[in-house]
Amino acid sequence: MHQFINGKAVTGASGATQDVINPATGEVTATVTLAGLRDLEAAVASARAAFPAWSRTTPGERSAILQRFARILEARAEEFAQAESSQTGKPLRLCREFDVPGTIDNVDFFAGAARNLEGKAMAEYSADHTSAIRREAIGVIGSIAPWNYPLQMAAWKILPAIAAGNTIILKPAEITPLTSVMFAEALSEAGLPDGVVNVLVGSGSTIGAALMRHPQVDMVSFTGSTAVGRTVLEAAAVNAKRVHLELGGKAPFVVFDDADIDAAVHGAVAGSLINSGQDCTAATRALVHRSVYQEFVDKLAARFDGIVLGTPENDGADIGSLSSFRHRDHVAGMVERARGYARVVAGGYVPTDDGLGDGAFYRPTLIVDAAPDSEIVKNEVFGPVLVVLPFDDDDEAIALANDTVYGLAASAWTSNIQRALRATREIKAGCVWVNDHIPIISEMPHGGFKQSGFGKDMSAYSFEEYTQVKHVMFELGGVVEKDWHRTIFALR
Ligand code: NAP
Ligand code: MG
Repeated sequence: MHQFINGKAVTGASGATQDVINPATGEVTATVTLAGLRDLEAAVASARAAFPAWSRTTPGERSAILQRFARILEARAEEFAQAESSQTGKPLRLCREFDVPGTIDNVDFFAGAARNLEGKAMAEYSADHTSAIRREAIGVIGSIAPWNYPLQMAAWKILPAIAAGNTIILKPAEITPLTSVMFAEALSEAGLPDGVVNVLVGSGSTIGAALMRHPQVDMVSFTGSTAVGRTVLEAAAVNAKRVHLELGGKAPFVVFDDADIDAAVHGAVAGSLINSGQDCTAATRALVHRSVYQEFVDKLAARFDGIVLGTPENDGADIGSLSSFRHRDHVAGMVERARGYARVVAGGYVPTDDGLGDGAFYRPTLIVDAAPDSEIVKNEVFGPVLVVLPFDDDDEAIALANDTVYGLAASAWTSNIQRALRATREIKAGCVWVNDHIPIISEMPHGGFKQSGFGKDMSAYSFEEYTQVKHVMFELGGVVEKDWHRTIFALR
């Protein structure tokens, strides 16, 4: 495996290689060569060179390439699912039914959306002038993605950028580079001109940081932790780049006393354990009305205890491993510290079941009796861990939901329309679900409030990030002395 620069697969110039590990088995999936700074310069140069022609293609031409690309992905769906699973430890079922089809739907969406890009029609806002708005591509985009959904993150970063006429350099997470490189190669096969999409495989602290800082990169788009997001913001200050940040989350899952408790329990399992909890929108703080609290905790603990862990090809498994051993240790560490001040009522350990071998597995974990200001309630775990807190009235529920620096997603569970309306209005998050938690769709924006970042992925709203508007003004009179000149020429 290799870098993808200027339409070609090339060996990374750093001279170093790295094994990509299947965290569900501990086995080596592939060995990649890592990019050096020479590769970064080549990628930026190729993206710069490709920009003028690509930004002048018609929306229809860009759409045609994306349509061909979607059909290539469909034909190679199983290959992508296998590769995605082999670098993340996800069940193949999740890759086949969620990651790959979700990606193809995104490509289809942006193939259509590309043709709906428009500025405002011309109009006269001054009697003597006609104004028009042009919506233009920004230039070269530097993008950085995390390891939780590598394929979908590549899609979310690359598609709106190129559909709008930009060129891009993507750095996937170092531990999960395979499907991002495959994605770029398949785009090339679909007819994308060389240099429009480049992928650099390397570490965040070296290649990633240099990409964010590069003076020839016009905009940076980052998905990852809030801590690294802050450094991206600083790096972007160097030449005042435009920035799009999709950062962490600590989503509340609010269960009112009139909720359908069985639906809420079922939804909490799915909402907190999808992708082994490594989902920035995952339910992480269940806030439950005291009158239904114990019932909710008991039912959920039983459901968590019944979850089957398994290696990717095991169709009987509910969830897979975590994405790396290092991350598994991070999750286990947070749970161990929580034991000092809270109670673990399900999971909370590394399983040793037959069939799990040497994978980076961790049991789904339910925690209660944690103080609202404790680490497990405040900080992102990014694993299969849900903490449950009781509340006594609606005001307290909303206050607890908003008691976080994050604001990416939330859900409210209720059969009362006024409560639902209040929760959706008052919870500060980029997405609030009612009686569900997790679904995303290509047509609707995904992005955070507060320290979960700013800017939107997916949907037509993403074009707000990846385009800029230009005011064009035409003078209508054709005269030398225009009326407004009196303000400076003191005309008599
Ligand atoms: P991370 O440590 O912030 O890493 C994300 C990416 O940034 C990786 O590609 C990483 O490269 C790179 N990176 C690390 N240090 C960097 C630096 N100094 N300069 C530039 N790039 C750097 O996050 P993670 O642990 O991989 O992912 C989990 C986090 O992502 C969670 O906080 C989660 O909530 C967030 N997330 C957010 C969304 C969203 O849409 N809001 C979606 C998914 C995930 P290396 O891998 O090479 O270190
Ligand atoms: Mg990291």
